[in-house]
Amino acid sequence: MDFSLNEEQRAWQAKARKFAEEEIRPISLARDRIALPRETFDWEIIKKGSKLGFRTAVVAKEWGGHGIDFVTQVLVMEELAKADSAIAKTFSQCWKWSHLIAAVCNEEQKRRFVPPFVADDTYLLGSGTTEPSGGSDNRMPPEDDPKAGLRIRAERRGDEWILNGDKVFIANGSVAKLFFLQTRTDPNVPLSRGTTRFLVPSDTPGFRVGKVFNKSGWRFYQNAELIFEDARVPHANLVGEVNRGRSSEGPGSLFNDLELAANAVGVCEAACEAALHLGQTRFEGGRPVKDQQIFELKFGRMRMLTEALRSYVLRVAWECDRRMRSPHAALVTIYSCEVIEAVTDLAMDIHDGAGAAVGEGVDKLVRDSFIWRHLAGDSVIRMRVAKRLAE
Ligand SMILES: Cc1cc2nc3c(=O)[nH]c(=O)nc-3n(C[C@H](O)[C@H](O)[C@H](O)COP(=O)(O)OP(=O)(O)OC[C@H]3O[C@@H](n4cnc5c(N)ncnc54)[C@H](O)[C@@H]3O)c2cc1C
Repeated sequence: MDFSLNEEQRAWQAKARKFAEEEIRPISLARDRIALPRETFDWEIIKKGSKLGFRTAVVAKEWGGHGIDFVTQVLVMEELAKADSAIAKTFSQCWKWSHLIAAVCNEEQKRRFVPPFVADDTYLLGSGTTEPSGGSDNRMPPEDDPKAGLRIRAERRGDEWILNGDKVFIANGSVAKLFFLQTRTDPNVPLSRGTTRFLVPSDTPGFRVGKVFNKSGWRFYQNAELIFEDARVPHANLVGEVNRGRSSEGPGSLFNDLELAANAVGVCEAACEAALHLGQTRFEGGRPVKDQQIFELKFGRMRMLTEALRSYVLRVAWECDRRMRSPHAALVTIYSCEVIEAVTDLAMDIHDGAGAAVGEGVDKLVRDSFIWRHLAGDSVIRMRVAKRLAE
């Protein structure tokens, strides 16, 4: 394994660092403090980032994107997330679904949806799986229970499919122009044989956005309710085959896990930076806090965990670039959940009273870190995945 970076990788890393420092960091805390969840979002930062290529970074060059490799993706994600994890995630949410378009859509669908996505700085992507009845059963359903999982119905009527039901917590839900949507097309069989996936544009008749969820962390990120009432989706938007919507998702599915882990490295970096600043500028017993042994122990642990996570993320990115299907793509996310909580908790600890103060930065890192528990499946489902991988 060779982790030395090539010129292109270094250039993307430097561009992301500059954008993060000059554009994201100055607005991060102010956005986080806005009370109404719909209003935390800022189109200007999305447009600026899009013009630099962060929205379309993983779209193949022949389709007008930048086609950056997995190592570059994690480098960019770390830099953006260090300034604001939720803004970074808004961009990488488009990466996840661009990977999926490349992996599972047919040529006609790519021609219809990719050029408008590439051309429009405000074109964001989302994907809906979770429903009010639950998320876990849709991600890792029981093999043989038709009652478990997706309730949203899609029924064919001529050249259209009629959709009825709700999705919840869908990322970019109130701002995306296109969604991948998992629906139930046969309620009498288990999900593996009764799920169909569609491409659903936000102007689909019968589709509307409901509430935006008011979260304690990742406040910039728009998690919304999607409501379908006799929504009419053209048959041409069906992805893959009817009732086979849970089949392989190609290399994009590897990245689902990796982007979160890379984002966590950025948050850990920010926590380390904040802790070091406190250690250098605050004096106790006549000496800077950073020279006290208790600080050295806490800070050393923060750095050790952050570097271990960074190495693990790079290893998985290196494997993904070689199209190696590795169990580590899932395990690295589980590890990132533990590391991000431990590292931000230590940063909070080191800051003492200032750590609890809203608007100072450290409390945001802690609140953002708790979001990891609920991503890409909850902690129980992730442990079940880990167990399966070990078998
Ligand atoms: C910031 C954020 C972004 C998100 N983005 C998206 C998105 O873009 N698209 C999307 O579809 N969803 C998204 N989600 C939803 C997320 O995927 C779900 O929250 C997650 O899958 C868990 O589902 P749930 O909340 O319905 O909890 P449930 O699945 O109902 O779980 C509730 C409890 O039951 C436990 N449990 C569940 N199954 C088992 C089992 N078999 N054995 C033992 N215990 C079990 C769980 O551990 C948990 O404690 C997002 C969530 C957040 C917070």
